[in-house]
Amino acid sequence: AKSAGGNRFELADPEADARAITRHGLTTALPTALDRGEFFIEYQPLVHLGDGTVHGAEALVRWLHPQHGVLGPDRFIPLAERTGLIVPLGRWVLQESVRQARAWQQTHDEKGPLRINVNLSPCQLTHPGLVSDTVDILEQAGLEPDALCLEVTESALIGADDDLLKPLRCLAEMGVDIALDDFGTGYSNLANLRRLPVRVLKLDRSFTQSMQQCPADPVDLKIVEGIVSLAHSLNLAVTVEGVETGAQAEQLRILGCDTAQGWYYARPGPPERLHELALADATG
Ligand code: C2E
Ligand code: CA
Ligand code: CA
Ligand code: CA
Repeated sequence: AKSAGGNRFELADPEADARAITRHGLTTALPTALDRGEFFIEYQPLVHLGDGTVHGAEALVRWLHPQHGVLGPDRFIPLAERTGLIVPLGRWVLQESVRQARAWQQTHDEKGPLRINVNLSPCQLTHPGLVSDTVDILEQAGLEPDALCLEVTESALIGADDDLLKPLRCLAEMGVDIALDDFGTGYSNLANLRRLPVRVLKLDRSFTQSMQQCPADPVDLKIVEGIVSLAHSLNLAVTVEGVETGAQAEQLRILGCDTAQGWYYARPGPPERLHELALADATG
């Protein structure tokens, strides 16, 4: 309990104060950050587990805040969702990364097109402009819909009704891939997968982490094996995230996962970096 008098301020939690100030600062700065051009995108490669070649990249947004420096999405995406900025911000991320993917393709064509994965917030899913914005963005950039993969978290689709699934179905029919992100952390009924217009399961990092122990947890091994065989029997591809070591990559390859992403291959970085990585495997 706070004691009366002079030492009252000493009892306050200075870190909590700092957090509150930061939060307030971010809240007021966020709505105009897009207009000020303070967001940028880093790209992290997705690699084929079979031969290590680059399959594509995931676009991950960052905010270069004038006072706080580079902020990761965990610092501002929840705020952007609460304030509604996520819709224009998400549209900007899509536009920017689709344009980037097209630019990669133009210099990198003979190895087959690099694909681009973009995260979609649940707020974007319910926004009526999703399909038309996506179509416009692809057309303007000249990117084929099948080079785009939209990542939606498993939790966003739990209990999804037909209204929510309709735009995703529409995009899927155009050839856009839909990935179920953070798969295995939610509570979705596996049988439900059949109902969803999903092409890719993105296995959550927690599974990858458990491959780190030696020997790996036999129950987790069985779970991943089961998910992979179910996914493949439904014609879905399996991507794993958070691969940090060669041992994890090897284990996940043996378990039949298709593509992987993680620090073992590359940290998220500027677009030129992805281009270099992709070219490197084109030349040997
Ligand atoms: P996510 O979609 O699950 O993205 C993967 C996160 O794992 C990224 O964090 C990435 O930098 C990190 N990561 C990649 N490889 C490794 C690894 O080997 N080890 C570890 N420990 N971490 C790894 P990041 O960039 O901080 O993004 C966090 C989350 O923010 C993303 O999780 C995604 O949910 C969200 N996010 C990022 N960009 C956007 C966006 O444009 N729109 C929306 N709606 N959400 C975004
Ligand atoms: Ca993601
Ligand atoms: Ca994920
Ligand atoms: Ca995540």
